[in-house]
Amino acid sequence: MITELATCLTTDLVAITRGRSFPAEAVGDYLHRGTGWVPANMALTPFDIIAEDNPWGSSGDLRLLPEEATRIRLPQLGRTPLHVYFSDITELDGTPWACCPRTLLKQAVARLKAETGLTLLASFEHEFQILGAGWPAAPAFSLAAMRRADPFGPELLDLMEQAGLEPEMFLPEYGTDQFEVTMRPADPLASADRSVALRLLVQALAAQKGWQASFSPKTAPDGVGNGVHIHLSLRDAEGRPVMRDESRPGALSERAGRFCAGIVRHMPGLMALTAPSPISYLRLQPHHWSAAYACLGERNREAGLRICPVATLGGGDAAKQMNVEFRATDATANAYLALAGLITAGLAGLAEELPQPALVNADPSELSSEILAERGVRRLPEDLPAALEAFQADPFLMGWVPPLLADCLLSVKRKEMSLVQGLDPAMLCERYRAVY
Ligand code: GLU
Ligand code: MG
Repeated sequence: MITELATCLTTDLVAITRGRSFPAEAVGDYLHRGTGWVPANMALTPFDIIAEDNPWGSSGDLRLLPEEATRIRLPQLGRTPLHVYFSDITELDGTPWACCPRTLLKQAVARLKAETGLTLLASFEHEFQILGAGWPAAPAFSLAAMRRADPFGPELLDLMEQAGLEPEMFLPEYGTDQFEVTMRPADPLASADRSVALRLLVQALAAQKGWQASFSPKTAPDGVGNGVHIHLSLRDAEGRPVMRDESRPGALSERAGRFCAGIVRHMPGLMALTAPSPISYLRLQPHHWSAAYACLGERNREAGLRICPVATLGGGDAAKQMNVEFRATDATANAYLALAGLITAGLAGLAEELPQPALVNADPSELSSEILAERGVRRLPEDLPAALEAFQADPFLMGWVPPLLADCLLSVKRKEMSLVQGLDPAMLCERYRAVY
């Protein structure tokens, strides 16, 4: 008899989703007591080699505690349905483990609420490429590019719908065999869980068709990048939108301006969390629409933080649509930590009443250094070592990330860099597209 399995899932510092499984019908006990887990698992590089100088070594034990309400039944993964539960990592007595990314996101959301009364809606927008389909070439964004993939698009949207991901759109993108999927905004934790679930669904569905779906920031050195864009929209305690004020620059309310200021101020150091791989920096280049500059732009796809458009035609509600999009992140980043970092940095902007950053509505790489300096625009770190340095040099971020997790992140990233040292961009793309 084939038993359906259930899995407790966690996603680690290198954005790999891992877990432990048991017969689905036995879930009752696991919901209260979790499954075993090992602290040093957090020290794995994407290439399955552990960073030896991690804070835990061979000692210690934890629990993976599933959250019942997050259960998704994934019919398409493998031959039997799989029930997945997004889980927090706890100590053996159930207290939160200080280094659990999902718990850190919960804490960031709770702090935002407690200190400002604000809540947030978020959505992760993903780009990916299909490799190995053997399709004839089709023009970028074209109907032909979409029809070639049929029925991948409708099947994916259907799976997403069944899994509660609230899909919005499936579209052919600019790059070779590149697509984008968007989901409706949700509370931050759900949006991060959905970002993880979406990757699992896309990869499983592609695999079923004998293809590979890759979310790697770059799959070819001169190809188009695969970005992750995180949309953020502040709400008050009653869920009413508070981002828009048409009398102000960019139509951003004072609170939204301060929140953005916090993110822009900490953006260079945040790169250690949001663009945390050597290959992230092949994508984060000027003229890639991937955002290589720490600045706020109104409808500017070269700005790290972009004020998104609102469409008022057909009675569209501008205040409700108002959101900003953080563009300097990719699928090698842990979604929970990336979002927690953005919320925490935004909260600092609110707490310190930072003024809204100058709007940068042109491509920053085409502005003179005088104008960049005048508007407070900085080039983001140009490689991972520079990002790790910016992270360590930011006392605010170092004060927020638990010390053991910061140590582990630095160890993992150093090890990861050593494992790909000397690879040319083409080989780097090959290594990462095999994993992400
Ligand atoms: N592919 C671009 C990136 O790497 C984004 C293009 C777009 O604006 O959708 O982020
Ligand atoms: Mg796109």
